[in-house]
Amino acid sequence: MDGHDSPPTPKGSLRKFLEQLSGAGKAIGVLTSGGDAQGMNAAVRAVVRMGIYVGAKVYFIYEGYQGMVDGGSNIVEADWESVSSILQVGGTIIGSARCQDFRSREGRLKAACNLVQLGITSLCVIGGDGSLTGAHIFRTEWSGLLEELARDGKISTEQVQKHGHLNVVGMVGSIDNDFCGTDMTIGTDSALHRIIEVVDAIMTTAQSHQRTFVLEVMGRHCGYLALVSALACGADWVFLPESPPEEGWQENMCVKLSENRARKKRLNIIIVAEGAIDTQNKPITSEQIKELVVTQLGYDTRVTILGHVQRGGTPSAFDRILASRMGVEAVVALLEATPETPACVVSLSGNQAVRLPLMECVQMTQEVQKAMDERRFKDAVQLRGRSFENNLNTYKRLAIKLPDSEIPNSNCNVGVVNVGAPAAGMNAAVRAAVRVGISEGHRMFAVYDGFEGFAKGQIKEIGWGDVGGWTGQGGSILGTKRTLPGKYLEDIAAQMRTHSINALLIIGGFEAYLGLLELLAAREKHEEFCVPMVMVPATVSNNVPGSDFSIGADTALNTITDAFWSLLELSKERDSHPEFCIPVCMVPATISNNVPGTDLSIGCDTCLNVIVETCDRIKQSASGTKRRVFIIETMGGFCGYLANMGGLAAGADAAYIFEEPFDIRDLQSNVEHLTEKMKTSIQRGLVLRNENCSENYTTDFIYQLYSEEGKGVFDCRKNVLGHMQQGGAPSPFDRNFGTKISARAMQWISSKLRESAGKGKKFLSDDSVCVLGISKRKLLFQPVAELKKETDFEHRIPKEQWWLKLRPLMKILAKYKVSFEVSDASQLESVQPRGPEEPAAI
Ligand code: ADP
Ligand code: ADP
Repeated sequence: MDGHDSPPTPKGSLRKFLEQLSGAGKAIGVLTSGGDAQGMNAAVRAVVRMGIYVGAKVYFIYEGYQGMVDGGSNIVEADWESVSSILQVGGTIIGSARCQDFRSREGRLKAACNLVQLGITSLCVIGGDGSLTGAHIFRTEWSGLLEELARDGKISTEQVQKHGHLNVVGMVGSIDNDFCGTDMTIGTDSALHRIIEVVDAIMTTAQSHQRTFVLEVMGRHCGYLALVSALACGADWVFLPESPPEEGWQENMCVKLSENRARKKRLNIIIVAEGAIDTQNKPITSEQIKELVVTQLGYDTRVTILGHVQRGGTPSAFDRILASRMGVEAVVALLEATPETPACVVSLSGNQAVRLPLMECVQMTQEVQKAMDERRFKDAVQLRGRSFENNLNTYKRLAIKLPDSEIPNSNCNVGVVNVGAPAAGMNAAVRAAVRVGISEGHRMFAVYDGFEGFAKGQIKEIGWGDVGGWTGQGGSILGTKRTLPGKYLEDIAAQMRTHSINALLIIGGFEAYLGLLELLAAREKHEEFCVPMVMVPATVSNNVPGSDFSIGADTALNTITDAFWSLLELSKERDSHPEFCIPVCMVPATISNNVPGTDLSIGCDTCLNVIVETCDRIKQSASGTKRRVFIIETMGGFCGYLANMGGLAAGADAAYIFEEPFDIRDLQSNVEHLTEKMKTSIQRGLVLRNENCSENYTTDFIYQLYSEEGKGVFDCRKNVLGHMQQGGAPSPFDRNFGTKISARAMQWISSKLRESAGKGKKFLSDDSVCVLGISKRKLLFQPVAELKKETDFEHRIPKEQWWLKLRPLMKILAKYKVSFEVSDASQLESVQPRGPEEPAAI
């Protein structure tokens, strides 16, 4: 688990290992600039700790470029502890500002002087395209600036020679997700959380009134937040700058709203991006839309403008992990930079870290604006990238039902079934499948209660309207069971025959995967199974072979992340406030601000809110802390994904997982590590333990061991997170991921069925039974038969798991010495305006 860790085996690659990189003698400056975003702190923390880890000096540059220009106390060396306890804090602790001075050469001259004095020649800038442009200009001018400073006698010629080059690496921190070349910018996911929380809240109150809500979200030039929120809540209409509504939209919108009302839909949601425009580039405002709805339809209409709420709150698990990964990657990129490498941005493509030339990205981002200004809206959407375009197409497809006359009849029946434990996002997946299926001309059949229900004939045709409003619902509305199809093959085959099922979509976890294998094996005996079958992974454990992610895992991660910080805050106050000594397992639901699931009773939520608010107030008055270590057990079966990623997102000191065997010496060295830590100003620890990580080193055992060994130094608390990880409202990521992956699966089914149309074709080959998953940058259909080789059936996990390579990262950030493969990316690539045919993975 720690210092005596052996490096992970390099997989036949020439990857460099960390040992080969040294930051000795280097000084890195880190700054946050432009608008703030949640997750910036996680990025700063990762840069500082990774920098220190490789032996470099890291300096905070406060208040963005202003601090760099002003120098003095604005540039301060950072140490390990200076970034403690900031992972969960929104905004940026080093401040961010807009800076006019830096736009002039004179300002940049001052900034260069300040950096050279401290020997800082590596710069890590976290900000939007403006900030990154500034960094690029600064880098290009650097040697000229230094010469000028030397001429003026401000620095020596030696210094000019020694610090002749400035290396620049950027990370995009922006809630708008408006930067070309990156799928997700730091802060976007958290902003989506804020928006969806508001929509969920509106939904619960609106059940009692018929209302129309016009919700304005941020995005002056970019409609990403509006689009993805619309996708995540099934909004009735959305207004974006990149894709203005067609002429006559006023009437179309009103017709649509009244149709929805006629179907007894009580709530209409219209989402408007701050910068929404019409085809003539005239702004479309929320008030204008409200006016329209009120005068044309007479509906009770409310406008909600979200504003800065979207930048607030704690960063989501996704943002913390993203920012931590990118921060480490940025330091590696800085160490590898040579005078010849151009300034780069580290970012995420699908699930893979990439390095892109900074200016290419900036230019393409500016191209989008130009395209919009010139009313080339199609180009604007394309330039935004494949992920944006895919979101837009999916939204349109799911929100607007074509008239029956325009839908081709495929004469095919497609079944949809949920299998395994419920996972947040499953319902979004079913909704997308049903609607895409209908729009492609199939009749869609819902199977209730998994394979067991299937065998018993619990199967019914399901329509477009039946799945309305399903995106935000937790659990599985269709009902799901763990039962495998093996013992019911006869009955299931009979049902397939009765309902003439031509294809099957299975949404579920490891059981779904096993089930698919059983159906494949039964093809010889039952020709009913000779149809295309595809599964999309949905399980909190994220242990399905063939996919980097599964639906539901993100929501569970958020629960774990939130749980820790809530526990921490409560426990800090427990000594002085005995009233806080209540069962702590209730906390996560409140802190995460999700709509509470049915597991929570009325009243306890309010009670907890009071506690949390009180905690905050007490915290502000800075009362004393106590040395404490939390041991938290997560779900996941044998799969350590949740423990590991939860650990990364919550800043854990250790995470015990099955995939990385550990022994008593590891436990001991972890205790020693924590004992050392208690001597510093960070007097708290967090240890995660996956439920099946070890038969004998149980949570109780570890708790007792830590308690005994930590006696007099720290005390321990343990908590088993249990089933609350499966519950709750699905996170925006899970809703969208569920929607998109399932829509894609239906398209695959359609194309398979088209191949065979009218030929009564039997599907016998292995590639007609697939798992659809994310693998690095792509959505991939992989035959289950092939995935068999890659599966550890005994422990129900894939033999290779991508996230294991992030394990050292968690340890480095927790101050352990480890060895690890330097990065995913390592090579600078070019920005692609349009990706390959494949739609974006995320
Ligand atoms: P964002 O980084 O979020 O796009 P801004 O565009 O406001 O935000 O840029 C933030 C800061 O970056 C500016 O206040 C300025 O100091 C610096 N900056 C932006 N553009 C330039 C530029 N062309 N030259 C120099 N500095 C710039
Ligand atoms: P969700 O909230 O999941 O998106 P909605 O109930 O809002 O579901 O439905 C979205 C769109 O589907 C509506 O705009 C409506 O036009 C269309 N729609 C729903 N049911 C029907 C139906 N039975 N016939 C025709 N169109 C429908």
